[in-house]
Amino acid sequence: MTGFSQAVRAVGRPVHASTSSWWRRALRHRAVDATALVTGRRIMVLAPHPDDETLGCGAVIARARAAGDQVTVVIATDGRHSSRSQVLAPEPLARVRSGELRTACRALGVAEQNVVQLGREDGTLSDCLPEVAAELAALLADRRPDTVFVTCRQDSHPDHEALHEALSLALRYPVPAQEPPQVLAYPIWAWTSGPWFLAAGRLRTRRLTWALRQLFTTGWVEIPAGDHLGAKRAAIEAYASQTTNFTGEASWSYLPADAVSLFLQPSEIFLAVARPEPVR
Ligand SMILES: [Zn+2]
Repeated sequence: MTGFSQAVRAVGRPVHASTSSWWRRALRHRAVDATALVTGRRIMVLAPHPDDETLGCGAVIARARAAGDQVTVVIATDGRHSSRSQVLAPEPLARVRSGELRTACRALGVAEQNVVQLGREDGTLSDCLPEVAAELAALLADRRPDTVFVTCRQDSHPDHEALHEALSLALRYPVPAQEPPQVLAYPIWAWTSGPWFLAAGRLRTRRLTWALRQLFTTGWVEIPAGDHLGAKRAAIEAYASQTTNFTGEASWSYLPADAVSLFLQPSEIFLAVARPEPVR
């Protein structure tokens, strides 16, 4: 690395941190209250990996359950590849994450029979979109949710983006006499890496354009966490493999406390997605 590029990176990091924070604040400022979309309604939360449901929608889930509303949590993959380890192989890691998911959902008030694990291998969702879409369509027909939460299409992770795509496909399945649900997309990695979306030191200009455009759109909504932030915090703490150095290895990846804190705010934020037209 040259001295010049070192200098650019040294300046770039604080610039990225401060503009990210400004971008998030600007989106929060524009977001309108959407509590009505989760009040007295059937809710389905779709997550690519165990922990995304809690980080993105934990307070919404706890709020709905405290009100006695139906919540179904659907986890698409087993999360077995979240970290490289010499100590914990992928399959045992998948079992750890499944246990953490059950504990987290209990903390949020979701009964075990309402937690559905599709069990796809972490990192493979885009290879099986039609199959996942068919599974989601069957769940939508069975649970008939009024509001569906899913990861945002620009979330900078292949599984997160693929799950959004799978839901779009699932909503095109014809379901007689059923009103299509309202879809709210939640950012996880987009929230932490926007608006610059730097990857290996390179700007991802299409993502940057999307992020800047969001400052002028009206689709962002927020739902206050209210008294349910404590339940969300407890659910996040259940994910020790994702929020601590679980094995003590230098190679273990986990969300640092400052990233976790972005999801422990007074409200959760979502992008309202237009209802896709059913295929006729
Ligand atoms: Zn994820």
